[in-house]
Amino acid sequence: MSGLLTPLEKAINGNGDNMQNKAAGYGSKNCSLTGLMSDGKIEAKDFKSIVWDWAIKLKVEPKEIHLRPMKTKWASLSGSGRLTFNSELLEKRRNLINYVIVHELLHIKVPNHGKLFKSLMLAFLPDWEKYSEQLKEVV
Ligand SMILES: [Zn+2]
Repeated sequence: MSGLLTPLEKAINGNGDNMQNKAAGYGSKNCSLTGLMSDGKIEAKDFKSIVWDWAIKLKVEPKEIHLRPMKTKWASLSGSGRLTFNSELLEKRRNLINYVIVHELLHIKVPNHGKLFKSLMLAFLPDWEKYSEQLKEVV
């Protein structure tokens, strides 16, 4: 991994530990987590650019990225490298979105959920198991 953190990685890694000013009366201003957690619905083009950012970071090359309503799962990957994401994800919290994206992109490298898959998930999204419990099926 490179040493450069993108804003996205900072958002993922950030623990909101700069709360010192709270006592000085800046309470709400310093609640940096609020901005991350409550992001409303994002647009398809933003979703896709998040996917591309992760693809670069994970060093994988999806052929195509699609968004459409899916009934039974959050994402799928075809044998030819075509990724499809459930458009319902656009309404989910950003860290759940990241989880599904990283999960699916990693399948380009690792086709199963074995040890390698889990350790890569852990490396890129330390809290991934928490998110996987919040969403049911990611294939
Ligand atoms: Zn999977």
